[in-house]
Amino acid sequence: MTSNHLGRKANPIGFAESSRDFLSYLDGFMTALVDRDLDSLIAEAGGPDCVAAIAVDLVGGFCHAGPLASDRVGAIVAPVGSAFSHAYARGVRHFAILRDAHDPGAPEFDAFPPHCIAGSDESQLVPELAGQPWVHAALDVPKNSLSAWVDDGPFRPWVTDIVARGVTTIIVAGDCTDLCVFHTAMGIRLWANATNRTVRIIVPANLVDTYHLPVDVAGTVGAMPHDGDLMHATFLYHLRLNGIEVIRSITLPE
Ligand SMILES: [Zn+2]
Repeated sequence: MTSNHLGRKANPIGFAESSRDFLSYLDGFMTALVDRDLDSLIAEAGGPDCVAAIAVDLVGGFCHAGPLASDRVGAIVAPVGSAFSHAYARGVRHFAILRDAHDPGAPEFDAFPPHCIAGSDESQLVPELAGQPWVHAALDVPKNSLSAWVDDGPFRPWVTDIVARGVTTIIVAGDCTDLCVFHTAMGIRLWANATNRTVRIIVPANLVDTYHLPVDVAGTVGAMPHDGDLMHATFLYHLRLNGIEVIRSITLPE
């Protein structure tokens, strides 16, 4: 540890000043993200059978209506649908749809207002995606926490199985960058690390997002504020820090 680090611990306020260099780095990190084209990603994986794609929480309660719905999150629905449809057209068949579907008394509601109760419209995949072929091929994963990885549902066995059958590349898209996407991607990453499996996990920045709740608005509604752009960038950085590949976008065939 450097003396600078110790100095900051002694005075953990004034981040705008003390973290200026890092925030500038974060700007550079975001602008330096590169596009990758879908065909190259599939080829590098070893073919479409070796690719999986996961859609996280593209449900009504985060994209359209409800206490946690966000326009900026809703805006990723169409790009995710397009990217996954192209992947399906290229022969990719390993898809999973993770969606919040909470018990009415979920402990998570101590932290977040009640949302996405199982069976409600909020807990359903958004209708814009419902007719797309990849959706019909997908494993449906209702979940009662931020991470489907930590429960006894079908997600972890599915990942384990597809990797055992040759999947080398897993694309994670959806929301929120710093919440369910982060925990999903990290769950797979840490499992692969712990078990010495070589798995390439890719998070395209244009296919994930998080909500924005300004400080002044948060104060009026009794919630914790949430800086959408900063959280998005910080957690993309954190994914990259942990060996997850963060790219700007997946370039799709004409
Ligand atoms: Zn939830």
